[in-house]
Amino acid sequence: MSAASQARKRRGPDELQVVAFERGAATSYSACGIPYWISGAVDAEERLVSRTPEQHRRNGIDVRTRTEVVAIDPAARTVRARDLDGGGEYDEPFDDLVYATGSVPLRPPVPGIDAAGVYGVQTLDDGAALRRALDSGRVETVVIVGGGYIGLEIAEACRVRGLDVTVVDRSPTPVGMFDPDIGGFIADAVRGLGIDLVLSDGVAEIETKPDGRAVAVRTAAGRRLPADLVVLGLGVRPNVELARQAGIPLGPSGGIAVDHRMRTQLPRVWAAGDCVESVHRLSGQRVVVALGTHANKQGRVAGINIGGGYATFPGVIGTAVTKVCDLEVARTGLSEREAEAAGYRYVTASVDSTTRAGYFPGSQPIRLKLLAEKRTGQLLGAQIVGREDAAKRIDVLATAIWNEMGVDEILSLDLAYAPPFAPVWDPVLIAARKAFDAVEADAHR
Ligand SMILES: Cc1cc2nc3c(=O)[nH]c(=O)nc-3n(C[C@H](O)[C@H](O)[C@H](O)COP(=O)(O)OP(=O)(O)OC[C@H]3O[C@@H](n4cnc5c(N)ncnc54)[C@H](O)[C@@H]3O)c2cc1C
Repeated sequence: MSAASQARKRRGPDELQVVAFERGAATSYSACGIPYWISGAVDAEERLVSRTPEQHRRNGIDVRTRTEVVAIDPAARTVRARDLDGGGEYDEPFDDLVYATGSVPLRPPVPGIDAAGVYGVQTLDDGAALRRALDSGRVETVVIVGGGYIGLEIAEACRVRGLDVTVVDRSPTPVGMFDPDIGGFIADAVRGLGIDLVLSDGVAEIETKPDGRAVAVRTAAGRRLPADLVVLGLGVRPNVELARQAGIPLGPSGGIAVDHRMRTQLPRVWAAGDCVESVHRLSGQRVVVALGTHANKQGRVAGINIGGGYATFPGVIGTAVTKVCDLEVARTGLSEREAEAAGYRYVTASVDSTTRAGYFPGSQPIRLKLLAEKRTGQLLGAQIVGREDAAKRIDVLATAIWNEMGVDEILSLDLAYAPPFAPVWDPVLIAARKAFDAVEADAHR
């Protein structure tokens, strides 16, 4: 809908007809807010919707909800649409096509994975289905398969609702996009919520009752975790099936290959959001990063270009933020594993500090970890874990990475200071100093 809105803004209804197909009932909703609606922190589903189909229609976009696109014919320049309520099918012609189908939750090929009572959380309809099940009063035990950030957000939401929750993840620490030392803090916070965290063990089977409903998760190590309801939090893959069938080329990462203007390799076929791959500005590799922050920007870029303007999407650097209870965690750039895979030689520096002057009421602990390239001192990555007001400091470091700054430059940055906001040496500056020392020490070795 970002692409549709931008194209509409630039070319009026006389010049351009904009049709949007959505198989669900809602448009422009925040999937990111689903866990907070499930927990009750957000009180109504409607509050997650920033623009309804009706509002889009009033802006001149022909939104067709509950309508699934089932095929694309790039040669005939038509899509085949199926009305999910009426059942009819028809062909809709196009000059330009934007493919923005999002992603689909990963489903490991284990017995019982498609059983009733196993939920993925991707769209608002998925969230509504999960919420209905939780509201039914028949659910007391929940097992979350996969301890990524979405799995943990849902786990916390279920815990807030008073349910018994177990998270099972095959890695030694949850949320694999963080280094294990930071992941250890996350694991402690999860357990602190009263959630049972089973690590270094994967799902082997979803056990079902005779009526076909999920009743337990069996793990590779032989555990049996009883479950009235199972939620999949194993991550997502780009939803590219239709594109593949239509001959829209994919890239090496499995997402749709697009250039910086969001053009696919077929003429006047564009793509944006979770289904595409992006360039990682540090590693230079093509990566699929399924985040709303990129999807919105990419949709805007496609829409501006279709509308006759010029816009580009310059890539990603791996910035992300989440929280577990009141523990905030954030990252940007490359983790240690990613830096190694990209062939970087680096030093690390970790510091413990406070979010405000140590004596100031409400001051909270914060830990920063930086990765800097050996010799050049260029900042390659940063991770933060801490309490209130800790995580958004990552934005300073993301800006530094984006602009290829070295830790020597970062340590002198003119960052704001007053006791209610930071210690006199902001934790970012202390960490940069320590990383600079590590780069120097390595150079003299
Ligand atoms: C629980 C949860 C929490 C998240 N939290 C964050 C967060 O904190 N920060 C962040 O940056 N990102 C977050 N994300 C990720 C973010 O929501 C996605 O990156 C973003 O929604 C992707 O936008 P998109 O338009 O590419 O895909 P979507 O928003 O998934 O939209 C794709 C739409 O296409 C429809 N569709 C698919 N195929 C068809 C078809 N054949 N015909 C018709 N319609 C079709 C789907 O129904 C869907 O509505 C979260 C996601 C989830 C699920």
